[in-house]
Amino acid sequence: MDKTSLSSTATNRPIPLINASLYRTFWQVLDWIYPPLCAGCGKEGYRFCPACEESISYLISNLCTTCGQPLLGRGSSLCKSCLENPPVFHAIRSVAVYENSIREALLKMKFHQDFGISEYFGYKCAELLVTLNWKFDLIIPIPLSKQRRKFRGFNQAYRLALPISLTFAKPICENGLVRNIDTQIQADLPREKRLINVNGAFLANQDLVQGKRILLVDDIATTSATMNGCSTELLAKHAACVMGITVARAVL
Ligand SMILES: [Zn+2]
Ligand SMILES: [Zn+2]
Repeated sequence: MDKTSLSSTATNRPIPLINASLYRTFWQVLDWIYPPLCAGCGKEGYRFCPACEESISYLISNLCTTCGQPLLGRGSSLCKSCLENPPVFHAIRSVAVYENSIREALLKMKFHQDFGISEYFGYKCAELLVTLNWKFDLIIPIPLSKQRRKFRGFNQAYRLALPISLTFAKPICENGLVRNIDTQIQADLPREKRLINVNGAFLANQDLVQGKRILLVDDIATTSATMNGCSTELLAKHAACVMGITVARAVL
């Protein structure tokens, strides 16, 4: 079965008709009928096997309170980057370090259109959000440009946002923010160019975002430049505050 047939549609409402437990049951049945292959190592019967799970470095403590980057020492609650250039978002947190099996899995999620991987990691983000106890009104997946969305056929950030929306019963608002410039892939650029690259790349819909506490969702955070670019635009359109959650964090 083509798991990609469950592709996202633009919506500003919570997913109607289904609830979190029904969604999980659907996936359990689907995994039983079509045993998945581990996204990290290919082992049959798991979406992410225990050995690959073991290799995950979770980001739990001694993190920059703003961007979630691991801190080297214990002298400050902020990393050097946030001290020198304070971001406009409230905070970002990530589930784990971008390495090993999680890197493999996220590459497969992005380029092989495996909806099961995003369901797995979307719930990992939801579990982290439960512990953070953040309050938010709207979920906005970091948008792709129209061209990239058309080329890839889906936005992986939307798929990660779906389990979060179901867990917290909060709407996904894809139309709240669009990417109006097809920026180069961030990971290919040096840091200073990443910062320049996202300036003016996003356009928010004030009617949808003003007064709202917004949770941005993405697969990977590198320098936080994309999250900061989105947050700058959302705050300019009077969002109340912006937070971000990602599956993985490139540790710099
Ligand atoms: Zn594995
Ligand atoms: Zn920081």
